[in-house]
Amino acid sequence: MLPECDSCHIAAALRVHASIVEHSGEAVLVTDAANRIVAANPELTRLTGYAAEELLGHDPRIFTSGETPPETFREMWDALNQQGRWEGELRDRRKDGTTFPKWVRITALRDSGITSGYIASFTDIGKRKFDEARLRHLAFNDSLTGLLNRHGLKIQLDRAITAEGAPLAVLLLGLEHLKDINKTLGHAVGDQLLVAVAERLSACVPDTSIFATLGGGEFVIVLTGPQDSAAARTLANGMLGALGDFHMIDGRKVHTDACIGAALFPADGADAATLLQHAATAMYAVREKGRANVQFFDTAMEMRALARLELEADLRGALEAGQLSLHYQPQVTAADGRICGFEALLRWRHPLRGMVSPAEFIPVAEESGLIEPIGAWVLDTACRQLAAWRVDGVKGLRMAVNLSARQLHAADLVLQVQALLDRHGILPGELEIEVTESVAMSDPEQGIERLRALRALGITLAIDDFGTGYSSLAYLKLLPIHVLKIDRAFVRDVETNANDTAICAATVALAHTLGLKVVAEGIETEAQRHVLIGQGCDYLQGYLFGWPAPAEAWPEHLKQLMNNPHHTEAAQ
Ligand code: C2E
Ligand code: MG
Ligand code: MG
Repeated sequence: MLPECDSCHIAAALRVHASIVEHSGEAVLVTDAANRIVAANPELTRLTGYAAEELLGHDPRIFTSGETPPETFREMWDALNQQGRWEGELRDRRKDGTTFPKWVRITALRDSGITSGYIASFTDIGKRKFDEARLRHLAFNDSLTGLLNRHGLKIQLDRAITAEGAPLAVLLLGLEHLKDINKTLGHAVGDQLLVAVAERLSACVPDTSIFATLGGGEFVIVLTGPQDSAAARTLANGMLGALGDFHMIDGRKVHTDACIGAALFPADGADAATLLQHAATAMYAVREKGRANVQFFDTAMEMRALARLELEADLRGALEAGQLSLHYQPQVTAADGRICGFEALLRWRHPLRGMVSPAEFIPVAEESGLIEPIGAWVLDTACRQLAAWRVDGVKGLRMAVNLSARQLHAADLVLQVQALLDRHGILPGELEIEVTESVAMSDPEQGIERLRALRALGITLAIDDFGTGYSSLAYLKLLPIHVLKIDRAFVRDVETNANDTAICAATVALAHTLGLKVVAEGIETEAQRHVLIGQGCDYLQGYLFGWPAPAEAWPEHLKQLMNNPHHTEAAQ
């Protein structure tokens, strides 16, 4: 039973109220006209730690924590005096001294217009507030790093734009190789890396800036306060420097590179979405160049990005529309100038733009995934051509086909190639696959395993553009390859530039030590041919021996050249 106040005649009336509320789930407190506590229910005891007996006769100020703003009490009394009721949030103190937020409803008890007491009911809203705060945090923050997420960023960036109206710098930092790390070392390592990167970056980022993550290894930093591009560039360089060192994760050294794109407000966009999009355009431009660096958005970049999108849209239909074809460029033996094989080179005749260079559209095909169907078509067409030439009586040719990173890592590559060999009756050694060093090493473990499997099918493997990528001897030894192709950048000045002469000579020597054959590509002059033959190159390729040309251009050349030990005039 609730304790009673016998001294007061109001107690009888209060008892009625009190008995109603005794079993209420809410804490209930009743006071008399002088605002002294006359009743408290068990829930109140549970919540505050005070037994009802300890409270009787006290003013409810016994619960005061000093943490409720004085205006709240003023509002409360004004409302109680005027409307006879109030509800709101107060922060109270328990008997043990801890404080908690409570939601309270107070009603004045009126007896013929005279206030005879108050009845207050309240609940502890600490947990609810905690849950709300947590939900708010989850809604606006990334659960892994605790940084603002895309939603939180947008709100803060919008706020900064409206509040400051002054120049802002938006930097988008994208980690490279995160996908590879997730794939090879596992997502747990990838996650730890993201946390470590966030920590390193936050040491560089000024306290006044907005720091967020978009997930997928992308971080956004907004420099607030008047900013110019110099401040943003300094910060960007600082961040790239901070990420330059490896991370130690699970006892393992993990390297990451980053690309940073920057957009300035108001010059590069008036709202959060545009600024972020333009920073992303700038970041992709850095990524294309393939080096850790920073770039600022400019409109030419946007034009390029749009053109690229258009190219991708057009490329989507190119295969079905029959706009793709293969040109074949001969390779000759250094010893006697006979054609010993061809490299298949993809050509795209765009209905409006004419010939589009593979250097331009292969990266688009690679990024959009279109390279998989296109690459399969290239392999199939090149092998069919080789088989057709064999039927025509031209035997012993090798057909080289270029493979991009995505193709090498496609799950069904080996099965696809096996089916191709069977379909066209290709003999061991007849099909050569060319990959660049960076393609082979983009995911070394899987890359090497794929190359081994291809080699086991009887495919010849060549490293294309040698000298322009990693050029690491340690890696080269790991690759199960047969042929090195010296990039034409070194061939161009081989007879005039001492450096290039030395590089070509060293490459030939290295390749031969490793038991590899060497192809020199891009030979245009007799002088280049002369030097490269002198250095011991095994095969030669370039305009001097023949331009890439459609298959129809070759049969009569082939028949002559198979037996004729001199190089041909250009086929085109
Ligand atoms: P790559 O594999 O290094 O091909 C050699 C490039 O050098 C070809 O350019 C060829 O036309 C050019 N070339 C040949 N001889 C000479 C010469 O004497 N002088 C000069 N200046 N250039 C010469 P192309 O056909 O424009 O191909 C560019 C790149 O596109 C290729 O480089 C290759 O990486 C890629 N590519 C071409 N076809 C395919 C394909 O079917 N699949 C994939 N994944 N990539 C391809
Ligand atoms: Mg090639
Ligand atoms: Mg090449």
